Amino acid sequence: MLVREHGKTLAEARGEVRRGIENVEVAAGIPNMLREGSGTVEDVAPGMDEAAIRQPLGTFAAVVPFNFPAMIPLWFLPYAVATGNTFVLKPSERVPMSSQLIFEAIDAVDFPDGVVNLVNGSADTVNAILEHDGIEGVSFVGSSAVARHVYETAAQHGKRVQAQGGAKNYVVVTESASLDDAVPNIIGSVYGNAGQRCLANDVVVGVGDVADDLRDRLVSAAEDLTVGNGREEGTDVGPLITPDSRERVLGMIADAVDEGAELLLDGRDFEHPDYPDGNFMGPTLLSGVTADMEIAQEEIFGPVLCFAETDDLDGAIEMVNSTRYGNASSIYTERGGEARRYKYEVDAGNVGVNVGVCAPMGFFHFGGRKESFFGDLHAQGEDAVAFYTDKTIAIERYYE
Ligand code: NAD
Repeated sequence: MLVREHGKTLAEARGEVRRGIENVEVAAGIPNMLREGSGTVEDVAPGMDEAAIRQPLGTFAAVVPFNFPAMIPLWFLPYAVATGNTFVLKPSERVPMSSQLIFEAIDAVDFPDGVVNLVNGSADTVNAILEHDGIEGVSFVGSSAVARHVYETAAQHGKRVQAQGGAKNYVVVTESASLDDAVPNIIGSVYGNAGQRCLANDVVVGVGDVADDLRDRLVSAAEDLTVGNGREEGTDVGPLITPDSRERVLGMIADAVDEGAELLLDGRDFEHPDYPDGNFMGPTLLSGVTADMEIAQEEIFGPVLCFAETDDLDGAIEMVNSTRYGNASSIYTERGGEARRYKYEVDAGNVGVNVGVCAPMGFFHFGGRKESFFGDLHAQGEDAVAFYTDKTIAIERYYE
């Protein structure tokens, strides 16, 4: 009929009809589309409406790490109270002061008493929260071993849990990448926050011929970084959180050298003239890192870049996926095909293309995979709403 009355070809006519029928198929699912749009479906049967109502559950708690004392509490607190719950925050005992300040600000605006609560302490306090009958759910961010413990213990006590763990993030650079843009971006990702970031990409994999140039540029950019007091203008890298943390990082570097890595930049002996007792370390760069080394598998949490090489993208993706973590990973490339493959084949919750720190905005969820995350609903965005609420189905009909 289309060919007869319009004159188009048979193939064009078939295509047109197929696209028309597609709309009939989509419209056949209209109850779902209405529900997503308005939350209510009218007339599921004559005179009967059905809706899902989200309701708060009671009291939630969050246990948070040291490395982002102001931001991470706010991945949870605002969503928990905005959805109608009360909330308990347990900050890291290593950085209790920023949370104190946040709570003073909350007090200053006359927030209702008892809605948000600050509890300081360490493991014992966390365990009391995990076992407490009055707490409906727990959010956790920290190392994977503790994340697993929180997940298992809170679940045993009947609670909802979302537990974000540690990370080991790789960045892959292919021959098509723009190195002028990639290098400063990678340097920021590795050494920013002194490497104490769950999204730090601390292993850089140069693919094919790009490796030599990339390595040289990374070494010279890392050499230019200034280590010091974060309050002083021009400081790029501050101290590590504790002397133990510094010792742990120094130990990982020594082990990597024993396993065959080459130290192209050694920041281990850095001493700040004004703060000889500070936990400072200079930017460090290890080359010749391979997937079987501990430093390629475990989180460093210090200002250390590990440089590795592969012949092709297959080898790079295999290396990225070799760790037990799956928090984030980035590729630097100008080829869409490489970026697309990376996005689908890398087992990480956050994937960046020409982006060094792929931290999602608040309207998207944030969370990793494998041992970087225990649970199902992540922090932020729609997942936060689902985590902090339960859904009641209300089906209504009236006879008069
Ligand atoms: P941590 O695991 O030592 O401490 C986190 C929290 O757990 C603290 O509040 C601490 O008091 C508590 N805690 C510590 N040991 C405990 C135990 N045995 N039982 C119960 N509670 C315990 O972590 P950290 O050193 O403060 O933070 C660094 C870690 O956090 C890194 O592994 C980093 O990757 C991870 N992290 C992950 C994300 C993410 O989004 N996945 C974000 C930031 C940090």
